[in-house]
Amino acid sequence: MRMSKLFVQTLREFPADAEVVSHKFLVKAGFIRKLTSGVYNYLPLMWRVLKKIENITREEMDKAGAQELLMPFVQPKELWEESGRWEVYGKELMRLKDRHNREMCLGPTHEEIITAIARDGLKSYKQLPVNLYQIQSKFRDEVRPRFGLLRGREFIMKDAYSFATSQEELDKEYDNMAQAYKNIFNRCGLPTKMVQSDSGAIGGSVSHEFMVITDTDAGENDVFYCECDYSANSNHAVSKLPEAVVDGASCGITEKKVLDTPQTHSIEALCEFLNVPASLICKCLVYIADSKPVLALIRGDKQIEETKLMNAVGAIEIRIATAEEIEELMNSKGFNAAKGFIGPKGMDDITIVADETIKALKNFVVGINEEDKHLVGASLEDFRIDKYEDIRLVEAGEFCPVCGKPLKVTKGIEVGNIFQLGTKYSKPMNAVYLDQNGKAQPYIMGCYGIGISRTAAAAVEAHYDDWGIKWPVAIAPYHVIVVPVSTNDNQQMSVAEDIYNQLNNAGIEVVIDDRNERPGVKFKDADLIGFPYRITVGKTIVDGKVELVTRESGEKVEMTPDEAVNKVIEYIKAALLF
Ligand code: ATP
Ligand code: MG
Repeated sequence: MRMSKLFVQTLREFPADAEVVSHKFLVKAGFIRKLTSGVYNYLPLMWRVLKKIENITREEMDKAGAQELLMPFVQPKELWEESGRWEVYGKELMRLKDRHNREMCLGPTHEEIITAIARDGLKSYKQLPVNLYQIQSKFRDEVRPRFGLLRGREFIMKDAYSFATSQEELDKEYDNMAQAYKNIFNRCGLPTKMVQSDSGAIGGSVSHEFMVITDTDAGENDVFYCECDYSANSNHAVSKLPEAVVDGASCGITEKKVLDTPQTHSIEALCEFLNVPASLICKCLVYIADSKPVLALIRGDKQIEETKLMNAVGAIEIRIATAEEIEELMNSKGFNAAKGFIGPKGMDDITIVADETIKALKNFVVGINEEDKHLVGASLEDFRIDKYEDIRLVEAGEFCPVCGKPLKVTKGIEVGNIFQLGTKYSKPMNAVYLDQNGKAQPYIMGCYGIGISRTAAAAVEAHYDDWGIKWPVAIAPYHVIVVPVSTNDNQQMSVAEDIYNQLNNAGIEVVIDDRNERPGVKFKDADLIGFPYRITVGKTIVDGKVELVTRESGEKVEMTPDEAVNKVIEYIKAALLF
């Protein structure tokens, strides 16, 4: 490819709406252009990268025994009604109607469609287990599309679905996919950590995520991990309970009484006013779970993990209540209290979930739904609690549930995940096979996703410097750029063309920068776009020397043109050989 013909426009500036490195560089270097919020054009350089990630994924999935197919992007409502998800999926599902007023949606994922395909084609235990996958565009009307390709509305996903006749068979395929995922990300030059995670609205019980560990803002997940093998997404992480009982007696509170606590809307203000530690306060928070209020209780020095709370009450969506919703709730119960004075007392017919830390409280402090008042010296018998669950956000320094050492925290970008679905879809959709005894049984399913476009962006997050992207060889749009410093110099041009031809003939993906531009411009573009290798043909060619530059390390070595060609071929072959 000749740079003069390559469809790429690099920009001088970063785009104004870009917050993270991958978004900034992918736009500046001419890989993507925004079409509308969360929707991007993949320009030729980007498409080459995406196809490489797709092909690595395809090769490893095929090697693992999965079979590729392609399902439509538009899906009919009827199948979503069969699974029960049409009602519950929420606003991320982009719904539309055709000219006959038939309701459809843009596929955010394909469980319903694949389950219907299996139901039609997999009728006997003799055909199982099977794993089917596709690489397809998805559409999710994300609340906050951001970070370019990391969280788009339209994006490319590899999604696989397995069908088995037993839990053992599913376990085996789950492990098989975990290994395939490790291979895929390693081949992409992107080391990942496999962490335990919540299985969320998709259901099922066991799931893991593959995280690219990063210290940048692009990491939307907190990952807790330990020296031992334990690691989990914060939505699933657990820590050992603090062992000590927290008793108000240690601050002289032994008697139950209602105290005036004016203006103590926050835990800090209340602690200061009463001169007690935050751990002695039973914090009460109102959440809206699937449009119903629930009350969550937790020790004053701990935070609620919303996904854990959502699972504890069996909801699909959850959020903290607004001041207006709290007021409405108080009015409906005949109380008069704002945030800071809410309590479990008298909250008949409202679900009350307490974190396990509450169990260890004695003579504690709690709101009683009266403005400017708190109950001190309270005990757990003073009010109703529907259930105790772990709804706590783990903090770094708390102790590992497996080995007891302090947990550490880091940020991660989720590039893939694997779920055990069990019969969540096969049962309601009556997707069955006949077992050895001729009895109909629902398939035991698993599903396995990789964000292809997110993986490309994550690779940039993991490989860049101030000047631009440093693509890993396996997914770089091109391997090498040959830069003649002066296009007016016949010797430089003829050597550069010769190197270009030799590399092309050897099957190396090479670009020659034949533009009549200043060398500074050419070098800048080469670094920005992120070619793994650059061969510069400049003045030293009179001594028979060119320069080979490695983008990753910045190393520059002078050598003869032949040596440069051979070295590059050697490096690329070594990087691509698996
Ligand atoms: P997230 O928690 O980041 O929203 P998810 O749990 O919704 O992800 P899945 O439904 O399991 O993701 O999708 C499988 C993979 O698709 C994810 O691991 C991720 O790599 C990718 N993915 C999900 N949502 C997006 C998005 N909005 N933009 C780009 N890639 C995405
Ligand atoms: Mg999501």
